[in-house]
Formats: sequence, C-alpha cells, structure tokens
Amino acid sequence: MGLFDKIFEKKICSICGGEIGLLGNRKLEDGNCCKTCAGKLSPFFSDRRSSTVEEIKQQLSYREANKDEVAKFNTTRVIGGDSTKIYIDENARRFMVTSARNLADANPDVIDFALVTGCEIDINEDREEEKRKDAEGNMVSYMPPRYTCSYDFNFTIFVNHPYFSEINFRLNSSSVQTTPEGGVPAMRIPDPRNNYEYREYEQMGNDIKAILTQARQDARDEIAAANAPKTAATCPYCGATTIPDANGCCEFCGGAMG
Ligand SMILES: [Zn+2]
Repeated sequence: MGLFDKIFEKKICSICGGEIGLLGNRKLEDGNCCKTCAGKLSPFFSDRRSSTVEEIKQQLSYREANKDEVAKFNTTRVIGGDSTKIYIDENARRFMVTSARNLADANPDVIDFALVTGCEIDINEDREEEKRKDAEGNMVSYMPPRYTCSYDFNFTIFVNHPYFSEINFRLNSSSVQTTPEGGVPAMRIPDPRNNYEYREYEQMGNDIKAILTQARQDARDEIAAANAPKTAATCPYCGATTIPDANGCCEFCGGAMG
C-alpha cells in the first residue's frame, strides 16, 4: 500500500464498527474510537487514550443506563454559578453537574452523595500592572505600582467514581475584575473583598461546599446505620431471643425493644 493510500485508509471504530472519517479518530490504547462514540463518554472522564476498547465499551453501557437515572431524577434543588449548575435530588440523595439546558440530551452522570470525598474552591488571581505615559511618552510604572486584578472561582468536587475522580467547573462565566483606586496608597493593590461580585462567588463556593459536605455525611450515616451489625436481645414482652426488625421491634410479638 502506498503512502497516499495509507493516509487515506479508512479506519474502523473498535466500539461501534462504523467507518471513521478523516481527522475523526479518537485513539484508544488498543484500538480506535469514532467521534460519535467518544461523544457519549462521561464529560468528566479524561483517560481515554490509556483506556482499552473493553473499558470504553463498559463505560458506554454504564452511560446508556445513566439515561434512565437522568429520567428518574427528581430535582428538588439547584445550586451553582452562571453556567454550570448542580442539580440535587434530595430524596434520592443524588446529584448531577452540568451546564446543559437539556438534561436528557446531555445525560450528565447521576452521582450518589455517598461517593463525594471532598470539595475545594480555588480562587485564581491574575494581576496586571497599570502603567502611565511619562513626559517622553514611555510607559512607566506608577509609584507604588498599581494593578488591575481578575479572579476566577474554580470549584472541584472529588468523587470515588469508577470513571472519574474529579468534577471541575467554574462558578463565574466571566472573570471578576478589581481596578486600583488612585490616590490612596493602601488601595493600589485592591482588596478583592471590597468587590460585591467577588464576595458573591466566594459565598456561593462556600455554600456549595457546605451543602455537599452535609449531604455526603447524611448519606454515609444512613449507610452506616443500615449496615450496623444486628445483635440478638431478649424481648421484654414475650421473652423470646430475637433480632429486632428495622423498626426496632421484636420479630415475634412486635413489641418495641427500644
Ligand atoms: Zn463508534
């Protein structure tokens, strides 16, 4: 086969068996994947290149099953920023993170609160020095230097999930800017907490962290209670040796065993 033929040789998707168009190939460790199949993977998944065909097939079947979980999802609360939002089903103790408006199309991973291992808010500051023209027309620093700062509020949810370990998103859709106020030396590197927007996003990040941390704790407490070893006791009413049922009652006479 000549070089020309080699370049234009059609590749076949190892997942769906479809033909892969020019520039459409998404490499796997031991095969090829078409754009359509790659587009169905979890948006939080980042290990495609080091994944095998078998692993990708497993994930796609999980992703297919996730569509039913999205359909069953009953949003009772929405928190989050301008674009990415966290949808919470408080009764089922689950959540989804997405910026999509059509949840069924986006098929965001439905995640149990119990899988959350932590949350982090990272406020990224970018400083740019303001300059002025001197008498000769050169750009020179103010004395002391003045800065315009911009801030981004990056949020990470750490999860113990089979296909990804981090969910990263930004609370703000455009950077929050703070500009220096001339004349007052102490204000030349502006204090971002004087900025209303900055305080709003910082508060939002702390709120999300508190909600997820509490939800995780509640979910884990419930699991721990359900898994607690049941010990036999003597029923004070009928005298039988019994393991109390889920409501703490004697399995023979139904008396409350406290
Ligand atoms: Zn495919």
